[in-house]
Amino acid sequence: MIDHLRNFNQARFDIISGPVKSGKSNKLITLIRTFIMDKKKLNNDLLVVKHPEDDKNSRGRISSFKKTSIDAIEYKSADEIANEITDETKFVVISGIHLYDKNIVSLCDSLRESGRIIIAGGINLKSDGTPYGSMDQLLAKADNYEIMSAICNYKNCNKNAYRTQRIIKNNKEIFEPRCLVDYEFEGRPDYKPHLIDQEPSLETIVGPMFSGKTDLLHTRYYQITNKDGIAIFKWMGDSRYSTNKVVSHDKDDIPSIDITNTDDIRNYLEKNKQINLIMIDEVQFIKGSYELVKELLYKGYKIILTGLKRDFRGEPFGYPNSEISKILTLATEITNMYASCYRCEHPATESQRLIRKNGIIQPASFDDKIVVVGGKDLYKAVCRLHHEIKGAPPNRYSGRFNKIKI
Ligand SMILES: [Zn+2]
Ligand SMILES: [Zn+2]
Repeated sequence: MIDHLRNFNQARFDIISGPVKSGKSNKLITLIRTFIMDKKKLNNDLLVVKHPEDDKNSRGRISSFKKTSIDAIEYKSADEIANEITDETKFVVISGIHLYDKNIVSLCDSLRESGRIIIAGGINLKSDGTPYGSMDQLLAKADNYEIMSAICNYKNCNKNAYRTQRIIKNNKEIFEPRCLVDYEFEGRPDYKPHLIDQEPSLETIVGPMFSGKTDLLHTRYYQITNKDGIAIFKWMGDSRYSTNKVVSHDKDDIPSIDITNTDDIRNYLEKNKQINLIMIDEVQFIKGSYELVKELLYKGYKIILTGLKRDFRGEPFGYPNSEISKILTLATEITNMYASCYRCEHPATESQRLIRKNGIIQPASFDDKIVVVGGKDLYKAVCRLHHEIKGAPPNRYSGRFNKIKI
């Protein structure tokens, strides 16, 4: 959670996400006040902006339901925000980030690359259940998360609401928070009867290589008493060989089910009705994982996943069709893990790929083939400032912002 990261003082992108009425603005305001203001670096180094369509009742301010508010400049495009960044700007706060054009992804990327800290609030999903604006890519590009929930106001539910439902009341369009059970969208799968008494949830454990994601998954496994209800799926590669659901044992002696595609998981669950909690390690490798996770979550399962959200180039894993990015928009909790940068010991958020070419170890190039003939791969965890990608294509804002130190 964001509050605990005060010593993470460079090149960082935090996202506060959730449905309508989940207290995102309140969280933004609290963070500005505690995290930033107590560093006494207010004046010119803080830029607070909001999209004009975000909370239209509060012009020129970010306001929370707790009646706190803070001044914000309204800009309707990423380019307009970029124009306001000066050499002094160190912190950029963006409210309503889901409403911005797609350039916002490049902007946040470039700001982070320059060493700045970005804190943004946005709605994860549209009312049709698909990612809002560029939220999928933004979540993959972020380093730290706070997933907020509201209270489901469907009948007398009062459960945690992670979704936004669009309804028409008296010819007026309104948006209400809904829990995962009461949320409706076209094509919603039927709830599994044996899961009726549990609240579905999706925790995604993300972070760079060597950040301990699988260890945390194992910890979660040990924390649960009813182990009969758990199924752990392990991806076995895109290979021809089929294990016919052989139960293997890894070094921690946790039983897992080998899979080669998403139907292996569906078939296993059809045959094993006692399962209520699904764990999947390294989800980024599984084709069709977004559709699968979406389906199982709305059927009522609890799900815990680990995954690499960014590749060695810093792009969303699988880009331009990153499934893990879209999975992040569905999450009810995102746990970000950090490694330690091998060069400066700051929290490492990136996976650096190094290759040995002609005996020299060097950063891999953006378009290096996955297997370099005669080369040997090395991976290290690094912070954003020590992440090197040779030949990375420039984006819209490349070279625009001076490098800063906070
Ligand atoms: Zn509900
Ligand atoms: Zn570093």
